[in-house]
Amino acid sequence: MSALYQNYKRADLSFERGEGVRLFSSDGGEYLDFAAGIAVNALGHSDAHVVNALKEQSEKLWHVSNVFSIPEAEKLAQRLVDISFADMVFFTNSGAEAIECAIKTARRYFYDKGQPERYEIITLEGAFHGRTLGTIAAGGNEGYLTGFGPKAEGFPHVAGDLEAIKAAISDKTAGILLEPIQGESGINVFSNEFLRDLRALCDAHGILLIVDEIQCGYGRTGKMFAYEWAGIAPDIMALAKGIGGGFPLGACLAKEEIGASMVPGTHGSTYGGNPMACAVGNAVLDRISEVGFLAHVDEMGQYLSWSLQQLAQKFPDEVLEVRGKGLMAGIKVKQPVSDLLAKLRDHHLLAVGAGDNVVRFLPPLIVEKQDIDEAMNRMEKALSA
Ligand SMILES: *Cc1c(COP(=O)(O)O)cnc(C)c1O
Repeated sequence: MSALYQNYKRADLSFERGEGVRLFSSDGGEYLDFAAGIAVNALGHSDAHVVNALKEQSEKLWHVSNVFSIPEAEKLAQRLVDISFADMVFFTNSGAEAIECAIKTARRYFYDKGQPERYEIITLEGAFHGRTLGTIAAGGNEGYLTGFGPKAEGFPHVAGDLEAIKAAISDKTAGILLEPIQGESGINVFSNEFLRDLRALCDAHGILLIVDEIQCGYGRTGKMFAYEWAGIAPDIMALAKGIGGGFPLGACLAKEEIGASMVPGTHGSTYGGNPMACAVGNAVLDRISEVGFLAHVDEMGQYLSWSLQQLAQKFPDEVLEVRGKGLMAGIKVKQPVSDLLAKLRDHHLLAVGAGDNVVRFLPPLIVEKQDIDEAMNRMEKALSA
């Protein structure tokens, strides 16, 4: 028996090498990777520029404490500020830690303003924000909370509609936290209008809009950040997954007035913002900032969506709905999603399951048309099986 915790339902399949959108299994099989480590491998596998940056940094310096200045982190933070709404950045090693920082930043901001009673953050049904004690409370998924003692207080959980959110706002509310596109619960895209309404609601009540772009951000939808589609700016944002391209890295971004509340002593992380992670993060951002990169994601996203619509027309009894934006796509299927995922694996296509019996497609952002065609071919075979 494996010496690992048995908390994952693992497929009996392991890989030893990756190249672009392809993974090679230990037994020599070639797989088309439309899972990308759940939206992590934004540049696919073994991107030369990123590998090079990692090699170079690994021969210079791996780790120093955050009691010293870290130029690689300073540089990446400034670049994130330059391309977003934000003025300040805190680096983490994971998504959940980025959300933890977002929650602490929002609470501390109101504490500093003399309103310590404003600590509640409204979260939405279907949300996923991570697996720490704080983020399972924020996510509100009973299945993830059961058996872990009292749920951390301060996360009213409501339906994802404006009236329900309005009704939940009180003099204890610090902000509203949401994923502009919910990944885990089945690729639920909130409309631009809804996001604009939320922004207006937050402004009207003087509370903070916090976005979790850990999965939908960093180019995945064809814009750098998903909030841009709505023409709004949040107050705080959590990033991870794509930002490190496979190296553990996350970030919490905030407007200056808000981030400034996190003074010395309020927060910290031993590894957060270490030279290795930030050198890789800078290299990933070099690639995503290349002229035409996001336009390519947009084009491929539209092609993927069109291809999935074709598939749905061909298999109307099997594919019930097509969802998503850019290269964050999903299909709601009739057969149990785990059955279909296993069939897809048999046809050497990797995808990810999600709630609501949805198969998620999160290919590397460098995916090409012929890769999508090939994936659809394998989908057809799996659906016909
Ligand atoms: C993956 C994910 C998280 C948690 O990130 P970890 O790195 O696993 O802690 C949080 N929110 C969203 C939307 C995610 O997709």
